[in-house]
Amino acid sequence: MTAVGNSVTRQTFDEVMVPVFAPASFIPVRGKGLEVWDQDGRRYLDLSAGIAVLALGHTPDAVVDALTEQAKKLWHISNYFTNEPVLQLARKLVNATFADKAFFCNSGGEANEAAFKLARKWAQDNYGPNKNRIVSCFHAFHGRTLFTVSVGGQEKYTHGFEPLPPKIDHIEFNDIEAAKAAIGDDVCAVVVEPVQGEGGILPADPAYLKTLRQLCDEHNALLVFDEVQCGLGRIGKLFAYMEYGVEPDILTSAKALGNGFPIAAMLTTDKIAKSFTPGTHGTTYGGNPLGAAVANCVFDTISQPAFLANVVEKGEKLRASLERVATDYPDVFAGVRGKGLMLGLVMSDKYHGRAAEITAEAQNQGLLILLAGYDVIRYVPALVIEDQHIEEGEKLLRQSIEVWLNK
Ligand SMILES: *Cc1c(COP(=O)(O)O)cnc(C)c1O
Repeated sequence: MTAVGNSVTRQTFDEVMVPVFAPASFIPVRGKGLEVWDQDGRRYLDLSAGIAVLALGHTPDAVVDALTEQAKKLWHISNYFTNEPVLQLARKLVNATFADKAFFCNSGGEANEAAFKLARKWAQDNYGPNKNRIVSCFHAFHGRTLFTVSVGGQEKYTHGFEPLPPKIDHIEFNDIEAAKAAIGDDVCAVVVEPVQGEGGILPADPAYLKTLRQLCDEHNALLVFDEVQCGLGRIGKLFAYMEYGVEPDILTSAKALGNGFPIAAMLTTDKIAKSFTPGTHGTTYGGNPLGAAVANCVFDTISQPAFLANVVEKGEKLRASLERVATDYPDVFAGVRGKGLMLGLVMSDKYHGRAAEITAEAQNQGLLILLAGYDVIRYVPALVIEDQHIEEGEKLLRQSIEVWLNK
């Protein structure tokens, strides 16, 4: 399969890469909008957006311009100095949200690591050393550092890495009684994804998030929303908390923020931010001018009301398309769930655990779609998706299902 002129192939991966991933058999070399081409020039319709990252699609002109303009001026200067793009970005995020202060880093996991450290520090500063317990949800995903996999609620990601940081408890997502039982005065933070992503595209019930807010207020705990996947327009609001009308104390954002350039943010209020002082937390690359320039451009686009309204409209169309497929294959699928352009096509009990067979066949058919767990086909396409992509995606999905069923 080696294309002429290319000295690396998929096999090179097995030879020289630490095997934490099992990438597809082809190597993408170029992308534009929702299309990707591989080494052999084969085209794919990309409805995966690099896992909810490419909100504006591959190589959007405005972002490429922002990146190259800044690349000619200043890439990196360290946090011994501040820089113009990062201050502009912080100002925009603060103006648009509940937050008063922003901290920048390079990945969702790092933003959550900062959030959890801040919550512990804030509780310690204000209530002494015993208020340190963190409550989060089963099936949650918060990143891959030791602290964030521990707060995340999936044993498969902590197994073998023990001992884990202590004082972290997990409760069933959307279970109000479990939350009441678990949240006491020794809790410093309650952490939740308003829409669980990796765990299977599960939206929180509005009453659940409202109850978490009340419980946090009663017990002086911080409510942390991990909006790394569901934030920044993904469900049709700038941030998911705005859809729910429940304000967190700390919010983390990443994925879409850089449209593929590694940048992440932790947002919080003045009173909480005070617990981080010079030296208590830091990063070499966080908030560098190059990443911030990109994020400024992305944010300016996504935060437009017309852009967000279009996400809602396209989300409805994509949902209708997936529902048509689910209805036509009632044996295979149990239904569709999610919000906005964060949707999951759920496998039936009969085909339990077999979603990966469909996504693998989809690649053969030229369609890139994702999994969320073993039973959900995840759709988190670029937010600039158009009707033609939804139509082509449905056609390719149907083709994939037919080929797979007849194997
Ligand atoms: C992807 C994701 C993360 C981790 O982000 P990285 O950039 O991979 O560290 C954290 N939380 C949620 C909800 C995510 O979807």
